[in-house]
Amino acid sequence: MKKIAFFCIPAHGHTNPMLPVAAELVRRGNAVRFYSFDEFEKKIRAAGAEFISCDSFLPKLTKQEETDLKNVSTTEMTIQDIRITISMSDFLDKEFKSFLPDVVYTDSVCFWGKLNAWKHHVPMVVSTSTFAFNQMSSRYMKNSPKEMADMIFGLPRISRELKKLKPYGFHVKSVFSLIQSDNSTDSIVYTSRMFQPYAESFSDHYAFVGPSVFSNALPDKKKDRPLVYISMGTVINDRPDFYNKCIDALKTLNVDVIISCGNAINREELGVLPNHIKVYPYVDQLEVLARADAFITHCGMNSVSESLYMATPMVLYPQTSEQYAVARRTSEIGAGIILKDDSVEGIRAATQEILNHKAYGNAAAKCSEDFHACPGVTGAAEFIENAPHLPSNAF
Ligand code: UDP
Repeated sequence: MKKIAFFCIPAHGHTNPMLPVAAELVRRGNAVRFYSFDEFEKKIRAAGAEFISCDSFLPKLTKQEETDLKNVSTTEMTIQDIRITISMSDFLDKEFKSFLPDVVYTDSVCFWGKLNAWKHHVPMVVSTSTFAFNQMSSRYMKNSPKEMADMIFGLPRISRELKKLKPYGFHVKSVFSLIQSDNSTDSIVYTSRMFQPYAESFSDHYAFVGPSVFSNALPDKKKDRPLVYISMGTVINDRPDFYNKCIDALKTLNVDVIISCGNAINREELGVLPNHIKVYPYVDQLEVLARADAFITHCGMNSVSESLYMATPMVLYPQTSEQYAVARRTSEIGAGIILKDDSVEGIRAATQEILNHKAYGNAAAKCSEDFHACPGVTGAAEFIENAPHLPSNAF
């Protein structure tokens, strides 16, 4: 039995894949203490882990900081990450001394998990909820001019903020050493070697375990007419303009449509809907994807992995450079097409292309088989229990 401390930032896409791993570790008799946020308490307790609330350490945000975070500004996210690390420092010093974890399992961009594992000399395994990105695989990303400007102009601010970590016993050379995947850190990636770009450039310290899903559902596409599922994820989903275009594009087609639009949308903004189009703030995405024949997605790593797991081909509509990398790889394996024209006509044509050509579904089904053959959550749990890994000890 091991004592394992889990750390994650407050984001569904980062927290969700860690949950089945926590449940498996608990099932195998380990003690899992999950440092997270109230929004995730129910899910964490349902996984059988001990939940520790960290909400009181979240800094009060200015309106501008809130807007920047909502727009996924890398600079703002990095600065908030550093601030939370500082505000949690005393608390986590005490926790590490009393809980005495054998292993830390931390999200790859959760600085307070990584920095405290280093400071307290506890073996660490990193949870990578996107592709693993090194110099090779980063080539799959395409930064927009806005993202480039944010990063370039943000660097001096980040450097100033990083210096504030030193008095707390955290020594960081550069922000890249905190966020980039490196070949000597034990890391779990929730995809297969087949789907990971440049998989051969990653060492034995990487466990490509396949998507981490909490579902026994299996793909089942038998029904009277096709089902199209639409979601922009849980972060940048305040997009009534896009949902309205999708509704216009699909209302004349002989298909059923489910839209997951998040909590920020007022349903009235979407007008009166025909019977075959249903809109919800949140759905059981795996259950819907098991039945869906096409998924119009923002290309979050979890959404795309879940879609491939459920053999559902996609219309790919990435919004960030990371999502673009996921979209590019998905289109490369033939399981989707990138939506270049997001007009009503463009969305309709792309959806029909996916529905009318079996090749996309077949490519997704092939990837689903590959994902099902991965070590999965059992492999992830074993990898964490056995950390630290010597190169020959890893898989
Ligand atoms: N999700 C869900 N129901 C919804 C919308 C999203 O269960 O209605 C889940 C989805 O299954 C996935 C996560 O939320 O696990 C979204 O993560 P992703 O990486 O795709 O995107 P993000 O929200 O981080 O942009």
